[in-house]
Amino acid sequence: MIVVFLGPPAIGKGTQARRIARERGLSVISTGDKLREAVAQGTDVGQEAKKFIDQGQLVPDEVVVRIVTDSLRSINGNGVILDGFPRTLSQAESLETHLEKEAGLDGVLHFEAPTEMLIGRASGRRICRNCQEIYHLEFRPPRSEGVCDACGQETLYQRTDDQEEAVRRRLEGDQLTTQKLVDFYQERGLLARVAADRDVDSIAKDVSLWVEGLS
Ligand SMILES: [Zn+2]
Repeated sequence: MIVVFLGPPAIGKGTQARRIARERGLSVISTGDKLREAVAQGTDVGQEAKKFIDQGQLVPDEVVVRIVTDSLRSINGNGVILDGFPRTLSQAESLETHLEKEAGLDGVLHFEAPTEMLIGRASGRRICRNCQEIYHLEFRPPRSEGVCDACGQETLYQRTDDQEEAVRRRLEGDQLTTQKLVDFYQERGLLARVAADRDVDSIAKDVSLWVEGLS
């Protein structure tokens, strides 16, 4: 079984992916992790990716797709969840071509939440300038305002990237891309949706039912 979890980074799909994977003996392929692994191991495709990373450029779709499909080849067990892949329509098309020779995708689950909730999550993030520890005003507040629990310095700050306007712009860009992926998979009859603006357990229950329905 191969399934895709689709949705923006802050929506909690990574948490859900790991949880259902544990429950059902699935593997999770997270593009970011695999990319870092390939670079660290210096594989052919890792070296290719490193050229772009070193120049501060985005790793091209073609390279990302090779990293994911290489990982798919080495997976055993009950199946795989692709977390955060595909990210673009071109990646989705490449993945489809690659999987044509084997069994295709079994399903795509789109995690949905109101933009305001996602903005709230991202803009509540605080980072320690001194030791890089990460906090969240709502989900993981420091014991004392502005002070890092880990190193005791009053060095918590909000990255420019996490300020509300920046988050809003980023999300709007993401939503356009995601919509194309949603249409792509809907046309193929693979798409299901889950409301992600609920507590972790309720979401997990729906995710579990969905996966059960696929097998
Ligand atoms: Zn600190």
